[in-house]
Amino acid sequence: MTYKRSSELFAEAQKVIPGGVNSPVRAFNAVGGDPVFIERAEGAYLYDVDGNRYIDYINSWGPMILGHAYKPVVDAVIEKAKLGTSFGTPTEIETRIAELAVKLVPNIDKIRMVNSGTEACMSAVRLARGFTKREKIIKFAGCYHGHSDSFLIQAGSGAVTFGTPNSPGVTQGTAKDTLLAIFNDIDSVRKLVEANTGEIACIILEPVAGNMGCIPPRDGFLSGLRRLCDENEILLIFDEVMTGFRLAPGGVQERFGINADIVTFGKVIGGGLPVGAFAARAEIMDMLAPIGPVYQAGTLSGNPLAMAAGLAMLTELDQNREIFKSIDEKTAYLHKGIQAALNSYNIPHTINRLGSMISVHFCEGEVSNFETAAHGNNHTFKQFFHGMLDNGIYIAPSAFETWFITEALSYEDLDATIEAVKIVAKYL
Ligand code: PMP
Repeated sequence: MTYKRSSELFAEAQKVIPGGVNSPVRAFNAVGGDPVFIERAEGAYLYDVDGNRYIDYINSWGPMILGHAYKPVVDAVIEKAKLGTSFGTPTEIETRIAELAVKLVPNIDKIRMVNSGTEACMSAVRLARGFTKREKIIKFAGCYHGHSDSFLIQAGSGAVTFGTPNSPGVTQGTAKDTLLAIFNDIDSVRKLVEANTGEIACIILEPVAGNMGCIPPRDGFLSGLRRLCDENEILLIFDEVMTGFRLAPGGVQERFGINADIVTFGKVIGGGLPVGAFAARAEIMDMLAPIGPVYQAGTLSGNPLAMAAGLAMLTELDQNREIFKSIDEKTAYLHKGIQAALNSYNIPHTINRLGSMISVHFCEGEVSNFETAAHGNNHTFKQFFHGMLDNGIYIAPSAFETWFITEALSYEDLDATIEAVKIVAKYL
């Protein structure tokens, strides 16, 4: 495979864009080499500027649950664009997508659209603070909730990949209000709650973590958090930016049968256009401007093209519920195949999977939190990543990411992926 044109474009990009990328996770700093520039995508495949084809496991970091260039989504966007791309006034489609989201997701009455997962989580925390009139928040090491200041404290994903889980630029004043707990360790949370009685506004977490690789919650962890929040009048925020409309139509709340107080969304809800959202029961959501005192706004929030893509996507998922089972089964198949391939070459590894989220950690033993996720052998991961890429399989260029399985992947694609793992495992 040649990546010549990609490298040329990367050289040009670096002159005018910091690091040549508009989001750090796209760069190959963690694995070495130049990032691949993609020209187009369709179904399960990405096509780069050098004419290479890849089976895609990034899927725009989660949104493309039905594959790339999904026709109903593309058509909806084209038709909407013909009518004008933004008005800054209310539009009917905003109500229609809100109605559908409220129907699909348990335990929410109202939803507000924003433009990214970052905005959704940032706004959710402000809302929680406004509602409880408290200032401190608890987050978990290795969870990523976007790049807003309060969250860049031991953040996962790109922040840890690039060695900046605590970013310069975040003031001490902000950092002191973010308390840090250990994922899957309810005692670590209880201690913080007890030491800060009456001061914690919310606990925010990825209920199935995806930004330190995939880390499912242990039995009792989410219900333990729910109880702790109820006992202490703390709001529980599920960041379902990755898991929402993926692990079930109603996300983790539905899949695990545990209610959060505020839920945030991104990725699937926008069908690949820039959309985030946050939702809660009416009592909480009605704290928002213009009817409540908590301010939150956005010139392009509820943008017609973004809403058209999101509505088309959610409608497909609503009408074809078997998709959720199908992607879970595909992921289980992939899990089995990769495990067998790595085992046959005695490569130490642990595979974590929940539903259609899966990640390969190159270490042995349970990977249940940030610390154990960091045990992964980075050298092995780098070789694995480049080996897979050279064999036409595109996984995220960091060990701290989840692979996203889509309905567009055929069993032939999964077999081709497992074959690639066998080839690569030989020289790991
Ligand atoms: N929360 C989670 C769980 C995420 O995975 C991400 C992005 N990967 C975000 C929030 C931030 O979303 P965005 O990149 O759209 O701002």
